[in-house]
Amino acid sequence: MQRHFKYGRNLKRERRFSAKLGLTVAIVLLSCSAVCFFYLPSISSHFPSSSNLPASQEQVGLSGSNTTCDGKSDHIGPSCNEELQEIVEVTDQGDTISSLMSDNISDDAVAQKVAVRLAAIIRQHRAKPFDSNTALDPGCRYTINLDREGRFLKAAIELDAANVFHIMQDASALRSWKEEVVLDFKLETLVFQMRGTLDDSVSRAGEGTELASKIRHLFKWDIDFQSEAFRGDTCKVLFERRYADDRPSGYGRILCAVYEGKKTTKTAILFGDKYYNEKLEELKKDFLRTPLKKIRVTSHFGNRFHPVLRVWRKHMGVDYGAAEGTPVWSVASGVVTFAGRQNGYGNYVCVRHDNGFESRYGHLQRFEKDIRMGRRVKQGDQIGRVGMTGIATGPHLDFQLLEKGKHVNPLYVKMVQSLKTVPEPLAPRFASVLNDRLLSLNVNRVVLVNSTSRSRKSVVE
Ligand SMILES: [Zn+2]
Repeated sequence: MQRHFKYGRNLKRERRFSAKLGLTVAIVLLSCSAVCFFYLPSISSHFPSSSNLPASQEQVGLSGSNTTCDGKSDHIGPSCNEELQEIVEVTDQGDTISSLMSDNISDDAVAQKVAVRLAAIIRQHRAKPFDSNTALDPGCRYTINLDREGRFLKAAIELDAANVFHIMQDASALRSWKEEVVLDFKLETLVFQMRGTLDDSVSRAGEGTELASKIRHLFKWDIDFQSEAFRGDTCKVLFERRYADDRPSGYGRILCAVYEGKKTTKTAILFGDKYYNEKLEELKKDFLRTPLKKIRVTSHFGNRFHPVLRVWRKHMGVDYGAAEGTPVWSVASGVVTFAGRQNGYGNYVCVRHDNGFESRYGHLQRFEKDIRMGRRVKQGDQIGRVGMTGIATGPHLDFQLLEKGKHVNPLYVKMVQSLKTVPEPLAPRFASVLNDRLLSLNVNRVVLVNSTSRSRKSVVE
């Protein structure tokens, strides 16, 4: 009974209440759609949906997928109907930031401004010098977005997975930034056999030339890969593969490398920030093996029939053939004792080293800008470029080495003076690191199939 009575009176009140509720909902809905209809386009241009940009900036993905004109996409900047042109390309040999912008942005002044600004943000994140005319590696992905009139809106370039740079024209200024990426490293081992050059052998094993040049740099004091590496030699490397946002992106450090060859067998272990061999000797030595990156002997030390003077005469050095302009490095640290014209040697540099040695470089195209008498040079400093000044039939470097004032054959001199070793107290620690690293290499020893097939790799977690 109770129930019924209660039910009648409440029903009217409930009807009044739901009528009011319905009305309110209708009003709210109406005002919302009014807001959406009138204000949404202008608001959306100021509050981006997704980004991994620094707080102060907005970002557009390199893929450009979020800039298509479907009205639904969550892009930023000018409304989609203004933005019609998008260029998505990869760089070719010889491309520069300047050429990319001037090829695609009709207004030269804007193209120049954008190029300089983008190069500036890249330079901030690079060890080596970089400007808008620096040649880019081929294969870098880039996008350029222009509006209907071809005016510049934004651009991005991916030098590698860890280095993605953006630039955008917003209301008042050009904004540029580097995309934040999460870098990660995973240890891996690689075992490969030499077949052809080091670069060829490493790329045949499925790895990049960056790893090959890290190996070459590691052994540059002990192995001349031009003359001392032979087909079938084996190289085992424990290295860090770098990941940028979970995408493989180059290499980190080499923790351990073992080169087992017909002519030479070398081990390199990273301990602290230096490399040592298994005898606890530091790999870095007072002398580089060669003053050029790649060596091609065109004339040996000793008596020879002079190609130009047509007489028999003692050749006081070795001649290394190389392209004009190839960088020439000081073979060890020391002081420049001469830099100038010297008869048949043309542009000529002499460096006196700390341990009674002296090195001389002839026929240089030109000296490096601050190479002059009295200047101290460090090991590997560039002192000039290969040329054919003086009496020369072609571009080459005449390299001489003197020991206590007497010319010696550079190819046969053991170029080691004072060997540095692992500090005594650290020797036990070094021994355990050495064993661990070699174990990682050997435990994960893979059965080398043969020199034609790819080597196999394993991941050391
Ligand atoms: Zn010569």
